Amino acid sequence: MTDPREAELLATVPDGLFVGGQWRPAEGGKTLDVRDPSTGEVIRTIADASVSDGVAAMDAAAEAFPSWAATPARERAEILRRAFDLLQARKEDVALLMTLEMGKPLAEARGEVVYGGEFLRWFSEEAAHVQGRYGANPEGTGRMIVTQHPVGPCYLITPWNFPLAMATRKIAPALAAGCTVVVKPASLTPLTTLYFAKLLEEAGVPAGVVNVVTTNSTAAVSERIIGDPRLRKLSFTGSTPVGQKLLQQAAPGVLRTSMELGGNAPFVVFDDADLDKVVEGAMAAKFRNIGQACTAANRFIVQRSVVGEFTRRVTERVKTMRIGRGTDDGVQIGPLIDDRAVAKAEALVADAVQRGASVTTGGSPVDGPGTFYEPTVVADVQAGSDILREEIFGPVLAIVPFDTEDDAVRLANDTEYGLVSYVYTESLARGQRMIERLETGMMGLNVGVVSNAAAPFGGWKMSGLGREGGAEGIHEYLQTKYTLTPNPFA
Ligand code: NAD
Repeated sequence: MTDPREAELLATVPDGLFVGGQWRPAEGGKTLDVRDPSTGEVIRTIADASVSDGVAAMDAAAEAFPSWAATPARERAEILRRAFDLLQARKEDVALLMTLEMGKPLAEARGEVVYGGEFLRWFSEEAAHVQGRYGANPEGTGRMIVTQHPVGPCYLITPWNFPLAMATRKIAPALAAGCTVVVKPASLTPLTTLYFAKLLEEAGVPAGVVNVVTTNSTAAVSERIIGDPRLRKLSFTGSTPVGQKLLQQAAPGVLRTSMELGGNAPFVVFDDADLDKVVEGAMAAKFRNIGQACTAANRFIVQRSVVGEFTRRVTERVKTMRIGRGTDDGVQIGPLIDDRAVAKAEALVADAVQRGASVTTGGSPVDGPGTFYEPTVVADVQAGSDILREEIFGPVLAIVPFDTEDDAVRLANDTEYGLVSYVYTESLARGQRMIERLETGMMGLNVGVVSNAAAPFGGWKMSGLGREGGAEGIHEYLQTKYTLTPNPFA
């Protein structure tokens, strides 16, 4: 680490587990290394929790729950609001930290601080708005009272691709609802969560309300926590296969679950679309986060009469993209998260080409330190290619032509995933038809990025269960009680 500002910032990140309001080493002093994917260098060594450390975190969350649940909503809201303000004040630090551990360009990391911070502000506002109902039953014999209660201690598992936003999107609604949490960030990018936990402490979150365990023994630690009879809820963001495994583990305890899983977003371009807007939207939908987003456009399904022009224009744009370390000025494409991600991009492109597609730009890993892959456009992708079925999770734009609207719908829905779709058309009626016909939980109609703290984020089909953000988000952490009392006049 040569840059003094980076070294100074990294030194401020706690290296322990955060359990019951204390920062402490892992059992036996075990540690894990965190690397900068743009250089491969170890940038920080932190605690590597054991199963018993996980149990200690669960103990702390269970112990803190009754008093946090009883804390007035306004007080919980104000703590979240303070956290929002602190995050704004530390925006540059948090952004740089994300770039260092995950690789995204600094400008995008700053954008994530804004997006991730909005969950703190949004749920600070929602906390005081949880309401019940009171009314007569239809028979007139009684009064029905419906109230909302925090579900209890929650286990939150987050992925590496949005280290801040995936944490705030879960922690903020949980705390707003009155739940306590154990958070397990991805071991590839745990530093942002550790830094954020310290910030929450400063904002006044009481001991035991938020606990953080970082670990390389993910499966063992998680299985034990998920099997703990005191746990009431599991919220997971990550890949569909891991989500399926966790749902099985959650079944014996009949846990409430929220699952934000993988995607395979179609980006449908009709010939009546405004191609300037399409190209802007395509670049954002594909290359944000170096293509490593669950919402990343995976399949560009483009009407045949405009596919040539679309391919030419995106190829031109992609050729000008700057690759490099996320901290360098003007960089748009940082490293992929690890070697496996590069190998996956390579394999998907090779398979598409072998089945008849052509690469119009890019198509290779970049030599040297770090795990870089060139931004790539693959045209004329043929049916049956792996790239149409699997999540690419890299900077590869794959194009498939179509003829009719029915063909577009069939191609777009031809996946087990259903997270998000993008549609470009200047026809209102066609846009409305697509809203009704595409099997996704979210849609960008003439826009390439849909995420917003005020919106219900989540998928259909194998992309998940539940919603994060919006008015819905807090209900994932609340349970309903209905009480009947006699008619007081009878
Ligand atoms: P992943 O499933 O490998 O890991 C996600 C988290 O689960 C990490 O914290 C990891 O340590 C943990 N994990 C892995 N194996 C586990 C196990 N056996 N038991 C318990 N925990 C385990 O996913 P990833 O590679 O970190 O993230 C990329 C995936 O996440 C992509 O599929 C992407 O689409 C998805 N994602 C979805 C959303 C969404 O909101 N739908 C958002 C971001 C990412």
